[in-house]
Amino acid sequence: MAASSILISAVTWGTWQSGPRSSADQETTQSIALPDLLDQSLADIALHANTVVETGDTVRSILERLSVKDTAAERMLQSNDQVVALLNMRSKVWVNAKVQAGGQLEELQFVWSPRGQTQTARALSIRQREGNLWESEESDIALERQVRLASGRIESSLFAATDQLGLSDAIAIEIAEAFSNDIDFRRDLRKGDQFSVAYEEWAHAGEVIANGQVLAMEFINKGTKLQAIWFADKNEYFDASGNSAKREFLASPMRFSRISSGFKMRFHPIQKTWKRHLGVDYAAPTGTPVRSVGRGTVRFAGWQNGYGNVVIVSHNGGKETLYAHLSKITVRRGQRIEREQTVGAVGSTGWATGPHLHFEFRVNGQHQNPAVLAKQSKSVRLTPAELARFKVVSEEMQAALATASAVQTAQTMP
Ligand SMILES: [Zn+2]
Repeated sequence: MAASSILISAVTWGTWQSGPRSSADQETTQSIALPDLLDQSLADIALHANTVVETGDTVRSILERLSVKDTAAERMLQSNDQVVALLNMRSKVWVNAKVQAGGQLEELQFVWSPRGQTQTARALSIRQREGNLWESEESDIALERQVRLASGRIESSLFAATDQLGLSDAIAIEIAEAFSNDIDFRRDLRKGDQFSVAYEEWAHAGEVIANGQVLAMEFINKGTKLQAIWFADKNEYFDASGNSAKREFLASPMRFSRISSGFKMRFHPIQKTWKRHLGVDYAAPTGTPVRSVGRGTVRFAGWQNGYGNVVIVSHNGGKETLYAHLSKITVRRGQRIEREQTVGAVGSTGWATGPHLHFEFRVNGQHQNPAVLAKQSKSVRLTPAELARFKVVSEEMQAALATASAVQTAQTMP
């Protein structure tokens, strides 16, 4: 019975330095240097220990894990606002302590990645000087780039599969968004669909400090293989032949998320097709951000009977999108907005029985099925010179994806 569960793999594809390491980086090491015991007393031996800050950690709990027994150091750290802030930070914080054999703290180093930052991290070192004086120093350190591969199979949902692989939510969302114009991840997934991914991580002393770019993704849905390969030159994804994976319009006015993955695309209870209902309803909690599916100008932002709070956006080519029943509107009439820009939040204003987004797509005033339009509109292709550069990237990523899927296949075999 359990043999049918998802079999998973995550392997390291390669490791590169992002650049010369700083001296601050070199000072920290995981290895324990044991001096010649015949020449030195035990008190001179300093050990390095490290840990990662967890939710609810205090100065005391961190020091306990690092085997520090030093009340003076503990008091000093408790009164340091920056240390307290680091213990409450949402991103990962790595801590290294240099501890004397008696438990006295010699030096404590924190390493963390400010939000959105990858290749480098911040490091705060607090070390003991003569007497009871402590000095602290903050610096940038280079992180180590790791490219990792993972491959999995869908049993129930995308998040269930990525959870099994230990992949971050950010990667699951990237996969869903990259293929969203071709696959509706709420409705189209089939048991047995397969995916592979190559992604960067940025690490310090072997500990991942920051997530990086997802470099390549492959999804096999109902036997059809789709690929998205990151091309840094253009800052977007392309398929293996160099066609942009990005379309003029997003497939969904709400970003794929752990919450929205359970959203049902709901049709009107009486008129069961979008055609008669003239739109698509997405059941979603009040407050869920609603984004414009394309670039355009806000033609209407305000109240209309039935629609409640509604935003209408005009796009090129006589196209229009409409977002209704909003709890909140964050754009105003006449404003130019970008694709993916938030226009408001899900609500139940107007004639709505519960919180949901009512979404319409019109071309020259005629209602159209949004799913069909999202698939049709293709965006720009690469120039020959760009294509030549992309081919090099693409070939390397094809090899990476093939490796990921081969490992997965091998593990799946009985
Ligand atoms: Zn509706």
